[in-house]
Formats: sequence, C-alpha cells, structure tokens
Amino acid sequence: MTESNHMKQLRELLGAAADLHAASALLDWDMRTFMPPGAAESRSFQLATLEEAEHDLLTSRRLGNLLRNLERETRDLDPDSDSFRLVAKVRRQYERDARTPSSWVRRNAHAVAAANTAWEKARAASDFRIFAPHLQKLLGLKLEYLTFFEPAAHPYDILLDRFDEGLTCGALEPLFLRLKREQGAIIRKALEKERPRSEFLNGSYPAAKQLALTRRVLTRMGYDWKQGRQDRSVHPFTTSFGLSDVRITTKVVKGKPFSALFSSIHEGGHALYEQGIDKRYARTPFADGASFSVHESQSRLWENLVGRSPEFWNYWFPVVRNMFPENLGTVSREEFLAALNEPEASPIRTEADELTYNMHIILRFELEKSLIEGKMKVTELSDAWNSGMKQLLGVEVRNDVEGVLQDIHWSMGEFGYFPSYALGNVISAQLWDAALKRIPSIPEAVAVGDYAPLREWLRTHVHVFGAKYNTAEILAVATGSPELNPDPYLKLLNRKYC
Ligand code: ZN
Repeated sequence: MTESNHMKQLRELLGAAADLHAASALLDWDMRTFMPPGAAESRSFQLATLEEAEHDLLTSRRLGNLLRNLERETRDLDPDSDSFRLVAKVRRQYERDARTPSSWVRRNAHAVAAANTAWEKARAASDFRIFAPHLQKLLGLKLEYLTFFEPAAHPYDILLDRFDEGLTCGALEPLFLRLKREQGAIIRKALEKERPRSEFLNGSYPAAKQLALTRRVLTRMGYDWKQGRQDRSVHPFTTSFGLSDVRITTKVVKGKPFSALFSSIHEGGHALYEQGIDKRYARTPFADGASFSVHESQSRLWENLVGRSPEFWNYWFPVVRNMFPENLGTVSREEFLAALNEPEASPIRTEADELTYNMHIILRFELEKSLIEGKMKVTELSDAWNSGMKQLLGVEVRNDVEGVLQDIHWSMGEFGYFPSYALGNVISAQLWDAALKRIPSIPEAVAVGDYAPLREWLRTHVHVFGAKYNTAEILAVATGSPELNPDPYLKLLNRKYC
C-alpha cells in the first residue's frame, strides 16, 4: 500500500521535530563534555530556542488536523502495523503536550530554576529547610498538572505514564512489597557474611589503562564505533542524535578502579539498544526505547548479569591481570570476583550496589506517593527519609546531603521517574531468563568473550522494535507474558548472595 498524502505530511513533520531534538541533544552532549564553562549562558538560550521550536511543532494545530485525518484513514489497518501504531503514539503525546497550558510550562520552568539553585544552596549547608519551600511549590505545580488530565485510578499513575506507558500504582505496589520483603531478607543475610579480601582494589590503576580496557570490552560487546564514540563527563550517560550516532560517556573514579569499566558496560547496554533499533524508524517517535524501565533493563543486564558474572571474568580476568600486574599479580579470579561483588549498604543511591539498589527506589516511591496523596507534608520529608533508610537498609543517615538532598530529580520537578530504575532490574532478569531458556549456551559463550548470541537475541526480541511497543508489549514478545514478574530477579539474587 502506498502512503497517503497525510501520512507523508505526518512523517515530514515528525522528521523535522526529530531533527530539532537531535540538535538539542548534540548541544546538550557538548555542554556536558567539551563546552568551555563561559558558554553556559548562551548555551541555555540556544537549547531553550530549539526545545521551544520542537514543542511548537508537536503541539501545532496542523499536527492536530493531520491526526484527525489519519485516524480516519488508518481505522481499518492492522492495529499492529507501523502506521496505525505511529498515529496512536503521536496522538498520545499530542494529547499530553496539548493539555498542558503554556502558562503552566512557563511557571514550572521558573520554579524549577529557582528550586535548583535552592537545592544547591541547601546541599552546601546540608539543610533541607532551605529547599523545602521550593519543593512545596513544585509539588503544588505537579498537583495542578494532574488536573489537566482525566482522573486515573491513582493520581500518581499519570506521572508514571510519562516514563512508562500504562504503568500504574496498582501494578507497582504489590511488586515493590514483595521486593521489600524478599530482597530485604536476602540483603540482611548477605551483609552478615564475612568480608572478602579487597585491599588490591585500593592501589593505583592508571586512568589511560582503565579507559583502554573499557574500549576493548565495548568493542567485544558489539558497540559500533563507526556510529558512536566515547568521551569523559562528570556523570556517565548515553545520548543519540538519530539512530546512526549513539554516544556514550564514562568517568574515571579515584579509588574505584573498575567504576569506569562498569559504567561503560552500563552505558554500552543503553547504546546497543539504540543502535539496534530498526533503521526504518529513524526520525520518528519510534526511534527510542520502549520505556525508561526497558532502557534501564538493557544497561543493567549487561552491567550486572553479564559484567559481574564468573563467566564474564573467565575471559577478562587474565586480560585485566596482564594490564595491572602490580595490583593483581597475586590475586585469583575468585578473589577478584568476590571483591567486585561485595555487598554494602550505602546511604547514597548512586553508590548502591546491585543487591541494595532497589531499596533506595522503593523508599523514594513511597515518599513521592505520600506527597502526591497529601498524606505527608514536605516539612516531614527529611525525617521520613532517614527513618525509611534505617528500616530498609539499616543505614544511619548522618545529614541531609547524604539523605533527602542527594538526588537532583525533585529539584527538577521530576516525580514518577524513580520506579523505572527498580523495574529495570526486575525486567533485566526476566529477559535474561527468557534468553537462556531459548539459548542455554549463552553463559558458555560469555565465558569465551562471545556476546553475539545474547546480543542478537536482545536485538530481535527487544531492540528492533524501538518505541513501537510499550513495556508490557516488549515483555510479551520477549518472555511470552506481559506481566512484570520479580521471580527471576529474586532467584538470581538468592543464588548469588545467599
Ligand atoms: Zn542507565
């Protein structure tokens, strides 16, 4: 079937919006890697202009008219066809953006800018009270935002939907309750175990060699350097400017010699996802991950299930020992692996390990939900945080900087984002489980440094679809069931840590 005139116009409009988005992303990448600090102000103007132009296109009356025509024209198409799905997806985004009045967007942007400054000040003084009135204001704006939409079963569902289409509190709560109980029990057991030797991780590991190692591992993973590159930044991230330019960054951390490697494997997982999306979807809203949680499942699968496994180090330990003979000359592979996987309860989310990470997320989810429900006051947040941390991980929070002020998200007015991180862990194990059922020899391949069987399975069951499908649909394609299921994840943790 040839494409209708309206469909051609839609693709042109979406293509132009995607180009503007790619230009913003490139400016943002530059800002976080190479931009001289003096350019910050002019850069923020440039970004705002591009973002506004993109927003205008995507909320334009022209797009509204096109959608109306196309909904009529595509009514009888296969509901799974790209055209039908594309129109439905753009309609969802259009409704969401068009329902948000520009006056709210402006007020919110101002409040976010002020909150960000206050958050930095509050951190410098380690005093949540400096930030609290700003958070109160952002919360008020978020509650106002919720009134723009049809009421959901739970108001928080509307926020979740922005990051993970169709995700609800109804699905999250029982899942998190189980993780709290069962993962909590595994954590308690694991933390009681005897500490492995790990003093060899304290020595000096030259940065240039660390970076060389990340490049070797990324190459083996199948990262396409002809359509990507790796640079250094303060926080590692992955970004793409269209499907043929997917870049990653990494960071060398003093005192943590394998941090650069694991963050590179993590970002490499995100990047393989983007590089694996069907190129036909370039310059459309399908040129993206299915959701934040599915994206995070890819990074975590590579980082934790592959990168921290004995099979992975079967291949890489001799290489690493050769690269760092002074540090690792007398260390065995088993000792090395035990040190890398040593669990530790930290008050800081970004320093949390594979085992304890989800508890940080569950705490934030519960607090956010109480705030949105009006069951908790902003002024009570710091105390609630500290007692939650104590309860979940037995960790004593010493001050607000390592407590309620540690994450930037709330100062940016972001609520509903955190659960994606925990779901990423859960989904990574579901996908790993499904891949191994289909190809039981994956661990043997990993043990000889061959990631092709795993990567190709992920490509055909997750990556190629891009954002055509949502989380539940990807799970259905890849595992046979649309349900989020924590069983494989809990089983893996149990086997590894108990
Ligand atoms: Zn990530």
